[in-house]
Amino acid sequence: MDDKQYGFTTTILHSDRQKNIEHGSLHKPIHTSVAFGYKDAHQLAAVFQGREPGYRYGRQGNPTVSALEDKINRMEGGLSTICFATGMAAIGAIAQALLRRGDHVVSSAFLFGNTNSLWQTVAAQGVDVSMVDATDVANVEAALTPATRVVFVETIANPRTQIADLERIGKLCAERGILYVVDNTMTSPYLFQPKAVGAGLVVNALTKSIAGHGNALGGSLTDTGLYDWSRYPHIVDNYKKYSTPQWGMAQVRAKALRDFGASLGPEAAHHIAVGSETMALRIERECANALALARMLSADERVSAVHYPGLENHPQHDLATKLFRAYGGLFSFELREDVDCFDYLNRLRLAIPASNLGDTRTLVIPVAHTIFYEMGAQRRASMGIAESLIRVSVGIEDTADLLEDFRQALGG
Ligand SMILES: *Cc1c(COP(=O)(O)O)cnc(C)c1O
Repeated sequence: MDDKQYGFTTTILHSDRQKNIEHGSLHKPIHTSVAFGYKDAHQLAAVFQGREPGYRYGRQGNPTVSALEDKINRMEGGLSTICFATGMAAIGAIAQALLRRGDHVVSSAFLFGNTNSLWQTVAAQGVDVSMVDATDVANVEAALTPATRVVFVETIANPRTQIADLERIGKLCAERGILYVVDNTMTSPYLFQPKAVGAGLVVNALTKSIAGHGNALGGSLTDTGLYDWSRYPHIVDNYKKYSTPQWGMAQVRAKALRDFGASLGPEAAHHIAVGSETMALRIERECANALALARMLSADERVSAVHYPGLENHPQHDLATKLFRAYGGLFSFELREDVDCFDYLNRLRLAIPASNLGDTRTLVIPVAHTIFYEMGAQRRASMGIAESLIRVSVGIEDTADLLEDFRQALGG
């Protein structure tokens, strides 16, 4: 775009047009071609050797996917962004491309369930993983070892909404030269840019509020440009031919995307790009609805706890107020012991029992019995997951309808 700084939505809406779009289309077309032909064999070789820009093969990049990468990159204020088939593939790419046997990772213990499972897989392959309460930087610092390569946190943890000590962990990682990775899915780049607290890499599950409609899976990694890759011990010589700020993502694109192949397809990229145009509007409504619901439920005696950063009694309410534009579209709550959580869920008429989040429709799920079932009661307890915990991903329905639905399900 021109040098003027535009607002979030203007920037997304006009980002494709900053490059030439075929036939003047307003949307980047869906390019399904897997192979790309060049004028002669010399040019083909130049593209393969990175001397000329161009696409090689669909697994490593595609014009429709590139247009989306460019959008995410603008949202995060990044240096470069790579998209993947899912959010998990983006997180897995960090392990595949950057971690080796004997390395150490410090991760928040309050994590998306599948990321928790991924760290167990990585641990079984010889990478040490320490899971700590990252709401206090002291716990992260105490876990560091000379082999620590990565510190990984989420912004707002799902489902209990704990907020990591984001700024102080960023300072600690900068001092020690450790790669700081922040999963920004729960806030989205509309509410928060992890670059502001020193993140080197930012994860987004595009499946969630960036797409917003629940019709496509996708994930991304953004390099904010803040991490000095010359301090990273495992950059392969091949990728050191680029300028130093490009080393990390060159290695991620080759060693994770190309070698493991969890590439985002062009149709999914298109669906995500279209969804992203309305994300600021949707998120505003979701945050307003979530705050109204959380306030109503916390005032009801049949509800024993409500976890939402927008409530004054949330342990990191002040931090959330300082760092985020609003408090997000997700909250969770616990019912008094004599109210059965399954009965409650079955009385809801609008909210749908389903496991996605960041959708335009309000979705509810009994956490301990579904997404956190496999890990068992002991690990759940250590993560602060009550057996009756209900997670709510708040949609864009009319506020009065949602309030009425959640109220009537309590039994009047
Ligand atoms: C959903 C989610 C992921 C994984 O994204 P998928 O696209 O479902 O693979 C990762 N992190 C967080 C915080 C998520 O909510």
